[in-house]
Amino acid sequence: MSQKFDVVVIGSGPAGYVAAIKAAQLGMSTACVEMWLDDKDKVKLGGTCLNVGCIPSKALLDSSQKFVETRDQLASHGISVNSPSMDVKAMLARKNSIVDQLTGGIAGLFKHNGVTSISGRGKVLAGGKVEVTDKDGKVSILEAGDIIIAAGSVPAEIPPAPVDNEFIVDSSGALEFSEVPKRLGVIGGGVIGLELGSVWARLGSEVVVLEALEEFLPTMDAQIAKEAGKIFKKQGLDIRMGARVTKAEVKDGAVEVSFSTSAGEHVEVFDKLIVAVGRRPRTENLLASDSGVTLDERGFIYVNDYCRTEARHVYAVGDVVRGPMLAHKGSEEGVMVAERIAGKPAQMNYDCIPSVIYTHPEVAAVGKTEQQLKAEGVDYKTGVFPFVANGRALAANDSDGMVKMLADAETDRILGCHIVGPSSADLVQQVVIAMEFGSSAEDLALTVFGHPTLSEAVHEAALAVDGQAIHI
Ligand code: FAD
Repeated sequence: MSQKFDVVVIGSGPAGYVAAIKAAQLGMSTACVEMWLDDKDKVKLGGTCLNVGCIPSKALLDSSQKFVETRDQLASHGISVNSPSMDVKAMLARKNSIVDQLTGGIAGLFKHNGVTSISGRGKVLAGGKVEVTDKDGKVSILEAGDIIIAAGSVPAEIPPAPVDNEFIVDSSGALEFSEVPKRLGVIGGGVIGLELGSVWARLGSEVVVLEALEEFLPTMDAQIAKEAGKIFKKQGLDIRMGARVTKAEVKDGAVEVSFSTSAGEHVEVFDKLIVAVGRRPRTENLLASDSGVTLDERGFIYVNDYCRTEARHVYAVGDVVRGPMLAHKGSEEGVMVAERIAGKPAQMNYDCIPSVIYTHPEVAAVGKTEQQLKAEGVDYKTGVFPFVANGRALAANDSDGMVKMLADAETDRILGCHIVGPSSADLVQQVVIAMEFGSSAEDLALTVFGHPTLSEAVHEAALAVDGQAIHI
């Protein structure tokens, strides 16, 4: 006999688990199907983000940053420490316990909100049905009023560098190195490559990042990307632009990587190689041929602005659909869809999604870049404020970078904000809120900011939009 639910969610990552909790909170009977198992064959909730993405990477970034601060910066505060060392196993154990705490927390939230957690691989059939195959191959059918697909994404691979999970690893493998590689290659100079490269560089790896594109962080504001590139170089990251990897071969316990640049052919030998060339939507064995759900030309599930697929009562959210592959984007889509199923007129503002690279300093952005505004022919004003003129940043010995604010030349409405600097992930959120409320740069300029705070750099950048900054 099949079980019946108002809503069946496939996938328990940040898109799926949030959608399931919201649907249950709105009074709908809800099940969430997840196929990820732990080493005891128990269902593991939380998806990429909690298990092998956002959370574990930030745990390692925080540990490695503390190591760098202890080694390089405490002396300037008058604190002396005898040559600090890093116990990599202890660092990984801390990371794993944070992951366990958070994934276990979702199980608790499901219980608290009455979401039924179902272990197995879900497949969308026609007519509002989901087929679930459990770990022993037993098949059952769920009947759903509405289906939300939140199957997420997996690391993309490239033929010249096949992942062997020993010497050549993807982003998940890069979270598990049991010792610090002496020489570490990273294919891909995007968000994930820079974050994971930073972790191991801070612990002593000689890191070479090979990026095929000529332009560093091309989707970021060019001025901020340039500044970030300079800072990362100063930190010792060897970032080679226009470097196309043609072959990666394991030889005598090391990886020999061949790549070409405009200067010719090159070979580098690394102890480990991370392939961080992006992610692709996970749609294998997910859709029956008559499900009515279609894919777009890039393999993402095709959805409209409200995350509806081409099939009636079937929605898709998160990394498996178009848009930035970010946890918070997926979660908000999950909330929107649950509310729409419940009959509410929910929608999502795709123009106001912050993005962050959690290096040190962090690089954070919301809204349009200067190059986008130029390309769109928008008349804009710019306000830039460097952290070197911010008292709190100086007091913390953390004054690299700047805040850049872009506003419409005529209406003064904030169009974008781009930050490289300390705590920029949290600073940019202030501008996200301002933009969500349709604020002008003057609205921020007229707001009282506490002193001394890093936030004052946001205030000064807003003042600088009209040439009114005080401290530059
Ligand atoms: P996922 O998290 O991928 O979850 C999908 C879930 O669905 C998985 O648990 C999977 O097992 C399950 N599933 C798939 N198919 C089926 C099926 N047929 N049946 C049952 N279950 C199924 N984003 C940020 O916003 N901030 C960050 O700092 C950040 N850092 C990252 C660092 C790394 C190293 C990586 C790899 C990613 C990072 N991301 C970050 C991206 C973020 O992890 C993803 O955007 C997010 O996890 C997507 O959420 P999702 O729910 O769509 O999919």
